[in-house]
Amino acid sequence: MIYLDNAATTKPSATAFDHAKVYALEKFYNPSALYNEGYALQSELKKARSALLCKVADETSFEFIFTSCGTESDNQAIFSFAKRGNAVTTAGEHSAVAAAFQELKTRGVAESRFAPLDKDGKVNIEKLLALVDDKTSFVSVMHVNNEIGAINDINKIAKLVKAKNPRVIFHSDGVQAYGKIPFRLAKEVDLYSVSAHKIGGLKGVGGLIKRKSLVLPPYLIGGGQESGRRSGTENVFGIKHFEYAAEEKFSSLKVDYERLTTYRENLWESLDKEVYTRLSTEDGTPYILSVSGKGLRGEVLLHMANDKGLIVGTGSACSSNAKNRYSKVILACGYDEKTADGVLRLSFSPQTTAEEIERAAEILNEVGRDLARRMK
Ligand code: PLP
Repeated sequence: MIYLDNAATTKPSATAFDHAKVYALEKFYNPSALYNEGYALQSELKKARSALLCKVADETSFEFIFTSCGTESDNQAIFSFAKRGNAVTTAGEHSAVAAAFQELKTRGVAESRFAPLDKDGKVNIEKLLALVDDKTSFVSVMHVNNEIGAINDINKIAKLVKAKNPRVIFHSDGVQAYGKIPFRLAKEVDLYSVSAHKIGGLKGVGGLIKRKSLVLPPYLIGGGQESGRRSGTENVFGIKHFEYAAEEKFSSLKVDYERLTTYRENLWESLDKEVYTRLSTEDGTPYILSVSGKGLRGEVLLHMANDKGLIVGTGSACSSNAKNRYSKVILACGYDEKTADGVLRLSFSPQTTAEEIERAAEILNEVGRDLARRMK
């Protein structure tokens, strides 16, 4: 089976697993316990925190809080800081942010404002800034879009937002960026969400990177773990696996970036242009190529490709539900419903090979041509 749905989740690193399994089977103690075996795990957590943080941010200005997933990190940021006035985000966000912003509106906490996207999937910066005013408490702009792969220059956007209103708390969902594209967080970014399972880590482990001077009201209250900011016994095994998987991922980040850029372009070159339209632009993440089958349903193509040994994603959130049949993100880029209905998201990992790309193109051409013939 060829797996090209790595934006949904990645295969966990076996090397990291071998390295970390001692924390599942032998060093299973509670890190908050007072005896030596438990206490020793505190320094292991500290090491992991530092290793995961220093890859993208300056340790003197930022800190890393472990959470259970990217969704929790996004929710924690939004519900902690979008407290009054209005909160601004983009029309391209993952549901972990988009639905939380809708909830702010439902709860009457803050007015939610959504900035439009340009055709390439990036937020329109001018229109975003027009939504920011002196009543804005919180702004969230995703780093890499999970459907189309567009990269927002979050450091630049955070600076512009703060120039307009310095009291704004700026958050970015970095789940599809961390460990995949080269960057370092500017001091204007207050909060940044990451998730382990998108880079060879395990599901159920995430992190919220936070500017040190920002006081974070806890979302989970209890035993006071994570210095009182996120209670709950730490998943030491999952956290150490995340640390080792990230080590692996960051050590080859630049080489992977270049190789996957070539693969993405090779894949697009090999696809039949009579059948597919390209949605992702060349300046997006090399990890995602989003295409649309002309006049075809992405969901049908997905199943046909699956039967031939290729796993891909679609652009639609949930095509069995008529309300969600078309991806809001693809529509927000300005594509029509027909194009949104045909979306296939092909997403890669460093384990993807040139042979897999070649075979994936053959399968996609076969199923696309076959379905187009049947539709006539
Ligand atoms: N944000 C983005 C951009 C994502 O792609 C995802 C997962 O698909 C999430 C947030 C949610 O992350 P998690 O699955 O760790 O909750």
